[in-house]
This record gives sequence, structure tokens and C-alpha cells, in this order.
Amino acid sequence: MNWDEMISSEEDVVRPTHVEVDLGCLAGNLAAIRAYVGGAKVMTVLKANAYGHGLIPVAHHMVKHGADYLGVAFLEEGVLLRKAGISAPILVLGGIAGEQIPLFLKYDLTLTAPSVEKLLLIDSAAATLGKLARVHLKVDTGMERIGIHYYHAEALLKESLKCKHVQVEGIFSHFANADAADLSPARLQLERFQSVLSFYEKHSLPMPLRHIANSAGILQLPESHLDMVRPGILLYGVYPSRECLTSVPVTPALKWKSRVAYFKVVQAGDPVSYGSTWQSDHAVRVVTIPVGYGDGYFRALSNRSQIIVRGVRYPVVGRVCMDQIMVNLDQGTAYNGDEVILLGASEGVSISAADLADWAGTIPYEVLTNINTRVPRLYCGE
Ligand SMILES: *Cc1c(COP(=O)(O)O)cnc(C)c1O
Repeated sequence: MNWDEMISSEEDVVRPTHVEVDLGCLAGNLAAIRAYVGGAKVMTVLKANAYGHGLIPVAHHMVKHGADYLGVAFLEEGVLLRKAGISAPILVLGGIAGEQIPLFLKYDLTLTAPSVEKLLLIDSAAATLGKLARVHLKVDTGMERIGIHYYHAEALLKESLKCKHVQVEGIFSHFANADAADLSPARLQLERFQSVLSFYEKHSLPMPLRHIANSAGILQLPESHLDMVRPGILLYGVYPSRECLTSVPVTPALKWKSRVAYFKVVQAGDPVSYGSTWQSDHAVRVVTIPVGYGDGYFRALSNRSQIIVRGVRYPVVGRVCMDQIMVNLDQGTAYNGDEVILLGASEGVSISAADLADWAGTIPYEVLTNINTRVPRLYCGE
């Protein structure tokens, strides 16, 4: 039996620790992004288990609310979506291994062609299967990850015109620094992309779907919206960085909650948890919460993070264990079974993904994608 079968409602939760995803927030965020980008299409990026929010439920919801395209990182994610009955177009953004190409075609997934070599492999696999492969060409304008360098891109564009079994539906690039305060590197990438695209105008060829804007590009560089935008983190209601403009109002869709599992008084000088890294100089009330690094609550949060109980923020003390954390209430009050907010807001107090990221020395993206499958996901809203 899997978690989904075990959990039919919040009352049936087998573990007090769970994630709540508000689908209404996701729909609202998609609508806000759509309104901001005007006529551009929206590709909702669902890689890494929809940034921890749950791939399949989020995908169904995005399709229901009119997402034009779905984006994932890997073939396997695209296949999972097709097997779940999703028929919307899906672009696999990552690189491809040659032997995977027949599976892309079998599941009608749009391929990323990042080089002439891969494009020709796609063309010949499609020819063998008697299919037309839908492809987006990938141009590297300054990320140095995948994609043909902008200064060699014309060769890929020209080659694509000769491929009989490839339909070049789109062409895209990716920003390396669009979330920074200094936007000149991002502007340079956009310029490089535009000059690659001028090939189509120069030869009076139909322009494929052009896209480059991730969440940060959407927020900070309206001129980068082009024909389609690719929001990931913004869709989930989180801004890419502290420096980034917040031009689109969004609401975090995910809350991570638990309950107080144990209450005790710890005497002065008695150390708490592995390694005895924390002790109090006076007697304090300490509660134990059943969540740990085995769920994706980073061990780096030891002696750094806070949680919310009864509308008050309290510090995590001692090392984060695999399955449990200890929290110092000092003279505060909490009882066994009380709700605990690890991530989210309650009674006007909040702990954001950005807070947890700062405490753990990482970025909100990693906080969200790190919440693993041991934590059941519950859905509310429409
Ligand atoms: C992950 C990803 C995105 C979405 O990025 P966000 O910063 O989460 O908006 C867009 N495009 C590509 C190619 C990606 O890999």
C-alpha cells in the first residue's frame, strides 16, 4: 500500500508529519503569471516532483487551469505524466541519451535538441519508426550547460531545416543570472538569443516558438517573455532569490506541518541530541517533533532553524536526527498533539522556504525539492 492509498483525508494521516498543498494557490499563481506576461504562452515546469508539491496532482491541476505546455527535466518524468493520462504537450528540458529517443516518440514527448549530433539521432530514430519528432532546439547563450553555443547555433538551425522527420516547434535558451540585482549578464544572453533568432527573419522562415524566461526572467526582464515563459518556482509561490523583483504577486502553495510528539523538562547543563551540541543554563521545556533529515529537513538546520507552535516561533536545539528534532520552548507552552509548522504561516507568524534556505545555507529551490516521498502530501483547494 502506498501513501496515497493510506491517506484519504487529513483525519486518516498515518504520520503527523505531512505536506499540505493548496491547489487554489497554484491556480492563482498561474493566473497571476499569465496576466503579467500578456499574450505569451505559459509552460508550467513540473520537474523534481513539481518542486516537491507532487508531480501528478499538480500536473492535472495545471492542465485543468489552462497551462499551455508542461516542462520536465527527464524522460522518466514525462512518461509518468503520460501514464497518468496527461495529454497536454510536454517538453523534456534536459539532455537526452540516444537510446532513449524511441521512448520519447512512443510517449509523444517533445525533445530538446542541444546539438547537431543529437538532432540527427532524433531524425533517424523518427525515420525508423515512421514518426515525426517534435523538437525544441536548445541554444547556449551563457549558461555552459547544454545547448549549442550561440556562436555556432546557425549550423544547428540550418541542419534542422534538412531533417525530414523532425518538426522544429520551438527554440529556447536559459538564463544563468536572471535572479541577480545586476541584470547585464541576463540582458547579454537575451541579445545573443535574439541574434540567433534573426536567422529565421533573414531567410523569411517561419519563427519557431521562442522561449528563454524562467521565473526570474519573468519577474525582472519583461522583454524576455517572447512567445512562451517557463515558470518553475514562481508557480509554487516562491521568489527565486532575495534580490529578485517581486513583480508578480504569488502565494506559497506548500505548508509542511507536524505535531508535538513528546514533552519534557530538560535540566540546566543536560545536553540535547547527538554530539551534545546544545545545553541550557536553566531548566527549559523541550518538545520533540517527528521529522528529521530522513524526510528532507536538512541536518544543517541543527541549532539554526525555528518552528511555529501556537503562533510562536521557537528554536530547534541540538542536532537534527534522521526522524526527530527537539525544540526549546524555554518557558513557553505546548502540549502533545499540538500542530507544528515547519514551513508556512500560522496566526500571522511565518517561516518561509527562503528562511529555511538561509538557515541551511542553501536556496529555496533545494528546500522544496528536498522534502522527500516519506512525507505524505495532502491537497486542498481547486
Ligand atoms: C528548472 C527550469 C526552469 C524553471 O526555473 P525556475 O527558476 O524555477 O523558474 C525553466 N527552464 C529550464 C530549462 C529549467 O531547467
